[in-house]
Amino acid sequence: METKQFKAESKRILDMMIHSIYTHHEIFLRELISNASDAIDKIYYKALTDESLTFDKDNYYIKVTADKEKRILKICDTGIGMSREELENNLGTIAKSGSLAFKNENELKDGYDIIGQFGVGFYSAFMVADTVTVISKALGSDEAYKWESKGADGYTISHCEKDAVGTDIILTIKENTEDENYDEFLEEYRLKDIIKKYSDFIRYPIKMDVTSSKLKEGSENEYEEIVEEKVINSMVPIWRKNKKELTQQDYDNFYAEKRYGFDKPLKSVHISVDGAVRYNAILYIPEKIPFDYYSPEFEKGLELYSSGVLIMNKCADLLPDYFSFVKGMVDSEDLSLNISREMLQHDRQLKLIAKNINKKIKSELQSLLKNEREKYVEFYNSFGRQLKFGVYSDFGTHKEELQDLLMFYSSIEKKLVTLEEYVSRMPEDQKYIYYAVGETNERIEKLPQTELVADKGYEILYFTDDIDEFAIKMIMSYQEKEFKSVSSGDLGIEAEETGKETAAEEAENKDLFEAMKAALGDKVKAVRVSKRLKSHPVCLTSDGEVSIEMEKVLNAMPN
Ligand code: ADP
Ligand code: MG
Repeated sequence: METKQFKAESKRILDMMIHSIYTHHEIFLRELISNASDAIDKIYYKALTDESLTFDKDNYYIKVTADKEKRILKICDTGIGMSREELENNLGTIAKSGSLAFKNENELKDGYDIIGQFGVGFYSAFMVADTVTVISKALGSDEAYKWESKGADGYTISHCEKDAVGTDIILTIKENTEDENYDEFLEEYRLKDIIKKYSDFIRYPIKMDVTSSKLKEGSENEYEEIVEEKVINSMVPIWRKNKKELTQQDYDNFYAEKRYGFDKPLKSVHISVDGAVRYNAILYIPEKIPFDYYSPEFEKGLELYSSGVLIMNKCADLLPDYFSFVKGMVDSEDLSLNISREMLQHDRQLKLIAKNINKKIKSELQSLLKNEREKYVEFYNSFGRQLKFGVYSDFGTHKEELQDLLMFYSSIEKKLVTLEEYVSRMPEDQKYIYYAVGETNERIEKLPQTELVADKGYEILYFTDDIDEFAIKMIMSYQEKEFKSVSSGDLGIEAEETGKETAAEEAENKDLFEAMKAALGDKVKAVRVSKRLKSHPVCLTSDGEVSIEMEKVLNAMPN
């Protein structure tokens, strides 16, 4: 039997590639710069084994030039270049990756990962260009070749002149249409932005001729435009640097540069893991709540990089909701990217990283609480509510992990205390962890219901946040001590003091209580004698699971 080869309508495939793989046009620049960086890396690797080659880092760079009038955008590199066959094979065959082949043939050093692997990134140039011209001279060759294509109709290859080894990619940028703006890809500021966004940590300098106006020499008010070649990218990612060489200032600068927030971060964490998945991460706990934190527009997530190239702006899967305030980035070589390199193929590695990060954030917060109490309180005032939501959400799945991070205002300490601190101070005869709910600490202080508990010398936690009591109900008990609202029917204190006396009083005033109940109707369940009051004549209590305050919150919720 004869095995036949699949035929493919290459025009259609190219068309599909160009129009359906990528969500953003600007990605083309990331792809072409990644290719240029790979091409330089290949010389670097060749030099490791080839004694006739030396690799002097200063000679290698990528240059981006735009000519608005001619609508030409050039991306030139001093990398390994392509021979005629390589142009034919790598650019003439869709999904053929010379870089993947290179990776398989050479043993690559950690941290010098080649980016290319799918063999499609190059064609993204056709998203923004009518014509793509590639002029290349391969390392070790005297000949240069020109590859040119207008997209679907195929390509031509011809002999041409080029002095230095390397590749020039020349794009003739499309004219604007009604729906699409292409002019932006010829604008200096826009190109700079795109380079910064996706390619900031490419290891080699990405240069551009940058125009700026400067005061004319000898003049006080006359300006002149000058053009200077500048390096746009930061090159060395801070997360690849040795922790020992970095100062807090470096981390703070990175936070500001990346615009993670406009505040100064309260705490930064630098993680380097070399385990089942290798990754580097820099995480920040901000000081202040971002202005949009409680708005629907707020998106949680960390930046996700693969070998120094930005893949996702906000990878939500890396953070649980209760740590949604954490900012920062993760870089890993071990991610399995999908073909557009905008998403991940499998989330196994990501899940592992997320789990690690979650643990790390928790232990950082714990150490902040233990060693830098003031900072922790500052943090807690900003984001404590989120932790309490975390305890309550997902049916309490995370309560064990989070309960030790909670704090509440204490009637005795007059400041925020942890549950552990509360329990450690409990007198032996105290059965419950008492709390009182109200709008403010001042109001709670005046609640008649707190009197008896406070009189016994017991500490009371003040709940002023709607979520507080819900979270506590989810925890149920801490170190085997149950939580008890001071307004609940049975406080666990009255027992010895009540008894016969109450029963007698109850009987004596039966008529009065019945009349009061009749007057109040459905508003109360019963009117009873209470022993918990000292200076107040009356208070409300509840018998059920739901306290009066929780009822208020529930009633206020939209149905
Ligand atoms: P990938 O980068 O995933 O391999 P591309 O479509 O981006 O796929 O590129 C295809 C191939 O073309 C690359 O693998 C590489 O061999 C070659 N190539 C592309 N651009 C360059 C360049 N600037 N210099 C040298 N080779 C290049
Ligand atoms: Mg590529």
